Amino acid sequence: MLSVANDYRLGMDLAEELRSKGLKVTPQRLAVLRVVSSGGHYTGEQIYEMLKKSEPGISLSTIYNSLEALRESGLLNSFEARGVTWYEFRKEPHANVICLDTGEIVDVDVDLSQLTSSIDSKGMRTRGVNLVVYAECRPNETAPQGGADGR
Ligand SMILES: [Zn+2]
Repeated sequence: MLSVANDYRLGMDLAEELRSKGLKVTPQRLAVLRVVSSGGHYTGEQIYEMLKKSEPGISLSTIYNSLEALRESGLLNSFEARGVTWYEFRKEPHANVICLDTGEIVDVDVDLSQLTSSIDSKGMRTRGVNLVVYAECRPNETAPQGGADGR
């Protein structure tokens, strides 16, 4: 079964999302939210590279300030991996699986019920989960060096 957790984003009014979190609507916040809400995982630098043409006045520090405000409001999630902070649109808890060969980050659904019930049994309540998994491309799916396709 496909997850529909993020489908509501398609018709989402980003300005309304900001207002609903008590955040002032600024062009910078809207631009940053537009990038991250399109899906995927981004660093501040990547967002800056994507926005500096369409938003000429925007600076890297403005982008980080916007990202932090959006994260604190709960609109975005952030996690650290390989010494870098990544941002993604809020969604159900999932594992961020990072391929050590390509650097690609893939979302994988995980069942955290066992973990959260163990936490419950210790008298605590889970408020957030950031799960980062390091993986590598499966060797049998990687083209062998100097293979038939090699140039
Ligand atoms: Zn993710």
